[in-house]
Amino acid sequence: MSNPNPIFIPGPTNIPERLRRAMDVASRDHRAPDFVDLIRPVFENLKPVFGTSAGQVVLFPATGTGGWEAAITNTLSPGDTVLAARHGMFSQRWIDLCRRHGLDMRVFEAPWGEGVPVEAFAKALAADTDHRIKAVLATHNETATGVRSDIAAVRQALTVADHPALLCVDGVSSIGSLDFRMDEWGVDLAVAGSQKGFMLPAGLAIVGVSPKARAAMETATCPRAFFDMRDMMAANAAGSFPYTPSVPLLCGLRESLAMLAEEGREAVHARHHRIAEGVRRAVAAWGLSLCARRPALYSDTVTAILVPDGYDAGALVAHAYTRYGVPFGIGLGDVAGTVFRIGHLGQMTDVMALSGLATAEMAMVDLGYPITLGSGVAAAQAYYRETAAHAVPAAAAA
Ligand SMILES: *Cc1c(COP(=O)(O)O)cnc(C)c1O
Repeated sequence: MSNPNPIFIPGPTNIPERLRRAMDVASRDHRAPDFVDLIRPVFENLKPVFGTSAGQVVLFPATGTGGWEAAITNTLSPGDTVLAARHGMFSQRWIDLCRRHGLDMRVFEAPWGEGVPVEAFAKALAADTDHRIKAVLATHNETATGVRSDIAAVRQALTVADHPALLCVDGVSSIGSLDFRMDEWGVDLAVAGSQKGFMLPAGLAIVGVSPKARAAMETATCPRAFFDMRDMMAANAAGSFPYTPSVPLLCGLRESLAMLAEEGREAVHARHHRIAEGVRRAVAAWGLSLCARRPALYSDTVTAILVPDGYDAGALVAHAYTRYGVPFGIGLGDVAGTVFRIGHLGQMTDVMALSGLATAEMAMVDLGYPITLGSGVAAAQAYYRETAAHAVPAAAAA
């Protein structure tokens, strides 16, 4: 049975009706001469979302994990040293993926709830005078902990050390929703996926590639075949793909990019911030704490909430799902059981967010949490009322 409730997991996100319609298409010949008319604008319109004009964006029929693999295998060689930090499930999984490709991982452990440890990175880069480190990995938005890291600061650490390592950024739960500036931050590889900010089903790995990353492909020796970006880029330049693309997903992406452009990138970021801030006010009103340790780290796409001692966050998520038909995110890895997550990215309005907060409250009260029914909703309502005028276009208000 279909469930009409919105979902509050941080990916896949709610799929707007407009995108579902856009994906309802007949098969077409991806080798036909007019296929280029579909894909070329998609590639062009992706660039501003990534914040790049110097780079290019490639698409693989895969998920974000495939995007990690493509980024790594195309630009590095087995034995290369890679700097990374483990501060959540997604940064951990990227490290694991790199190890399986024979990369020599230098991993900094950071508390889950902290961001990328930029100072530790800066020291490691400054000490690496013979440039053994070939790449630096950074997770822009750690979806497991609701932590956004400062990618500009990571670039600054590379610049200060005058270090040539590639900067590889996981932007799966940020790109399309949060401000992302690939060129300005000097990001060489930026990984996204279709099922988060782009509001589509999973199935596309979307990877931004800088000219420097493109050049690194000529000497990198990690094995790759399906994910070989040189094949992909050559085919794309000729208006096609090296193998069969998912035409419905490409049609969906074309429409998704149109939606993001119509709303305006800054308005999209502002909307995510506003909705997230309302959720955070609700959490404060409940008397609960965020997993993210400081306001500078707060994510505007997902909020990870610590449950009180003695409560099981997994049971809370299960209860909300079975009793009210509303999915929230469970805690992953080191924070399993202690954290539940409210995803609020992609197609999300304050009214939708309020329904999620109301449901979370019902579930918590059902399970004996020491919170007052309505307290979080009231705090979010107050904030949304205060700020609603900013969300209404002048023409509609007149
Ligand atoms: C969702 C996500 C991924 C990748 O997940 P897939 O399931 O492979 O698409 C990677 N990193 C982050 C930060 C994510 O949120």
